[in-house]
Amino acid sequence: MKSIVLLGDGMADEPMEQLGGKTVLEYASTPNMDRIAHDGRIGLVHTVPPGYHPGSDVANLTVFGYDPATCYSGRSPLEAASMGVKLAPEDVAFRLNFVTLTAHYGKLYMEDFSAGHITTAEGAELIATLQAELGGEEFHFYPGVSYRHLLVWKGGRDKMVCVPPHDITDLSIEDHLPKGDGADVLMHLTNSAQMLLSQHPVNTRRENARQLPASSIWLWGQGRAPRMPTMQEKFGIKSGAVISAVDLIRGIGIYAGLEVILVPGATGWIDTNYRGKAQAALDALATHDFVYLHVEAPDEAAHSGSLEDKLTAIEAFDRDVVGPVLEGLQRFDAWRVLLLPDHPTPVALRTHTDKAVPFALYGSGGEFAVKSPASAYNEVEAAKSGLVVAKGHQLMSQLLGC
Ligand SMILES: [Zn+2]
Repeated sequence: MKSIVLLGDGMADEPMEQLGGKTVLEYASTPNMDRIAHDGRIGLVHTVPPGYHPGSDVANLTVFGYDPATCYSGRSPLEAASMGVKLAPEDVAFRLNFVTLTAHYGKLYMEDFSAGHITTAEGAELIATLQAELGGEEFHFYPGVSYRHLLVWKGGRDKMVCVPPHDITDLSIEDHLPKGDGADVLMHLTNSAQMLLSQHPVNTRRENARQLPASSIWLWGQGRAPRMPTMQEKFGIKSGAVISAVDLIRGIGIYAGLEVILVPGATGWIDTNYRGKAQAALDALATHDFVYLHVEAPDEAAHSGSLEDKLTAIEAFDRDVVGPVLEGLQRFDAWRVLLLPDHPTPVALRTHTDKAVPFALYGSGGEFAVKSPASAYNEVEAAKSGLVVAKGHQLMSQLLGC
């Protein structure tokens, strides 16, 4: 049996006036996704357990078949795995953003959570300085991509409250600084970093080029290595693979025991290499029995508030990922597909919500090829079906038939 998850990050949305009261999924032309819903089954699934923040980390863990209540330990440890950093039991990983803070009347404001999307080379140069000056036995700074980096605190604390910087754009940072046990250590480290950054040639160059400087680090998303069984252990698959442009999703895949497949031109944006991802997934299914194919573009488009880009991303996902995968699956004797987003990212809100999302299950035979009355894949048809999976992590057992 070959099983594949096709995940369009943040595809689900709310009805929009500009679309005559339709959601983006209802409005978009998606014949391939519609076929999955019509020839298979459609329903609603809750991917964010009550009390959890609707982050892609929590929601994707659920779709991978893991209950976040038993294994979620923070975002950063998952990203660390993707960066090839193994955490010891005493290690706490933090996401380190380079950010731009600006002063107004004695208060500091979060002007940009990405330091103007600083380049990867500039980020690496800054991280090298932080590691040379502040790294050692206790702290280790690792370079990542653009503004996204990693700090590992050996013997560190992990229970403080840290706010994601993208949630406080344009707000005063005063009320959003780390709080709780260990927060003073983070503040001290942040202040030391600010001193080093203010004199740094990278920032001098950026300011001369009228680009936003990386005026501070921002630490958040902390946690220890999660304890989770692999999908081989949990579901009895022989082997599997994950395809995603996003560190977080690859990191979950690594902890789940999957092979990470890198696709040239996979960007996480609407210009991503959709067809390359579909082809890589089909190639992977020749040797693996499970593939998780994640496309970030609809979510990014929604975060930027662009309805047009979200429509483009969803239609491209349908045409260049879902279509070719459905066609390619025909070469295998028995196959199953699960189609869904991880969470809604309504364009109007520009952030995630924790509402249930539409899913569709379809396959080459048996209960997976029961025709449903649904004419299309969208939130409305999913709600009409009356099928609701309250514990989203159970959906993976249905897909894998265990
Ligand atoms: Zn997401």
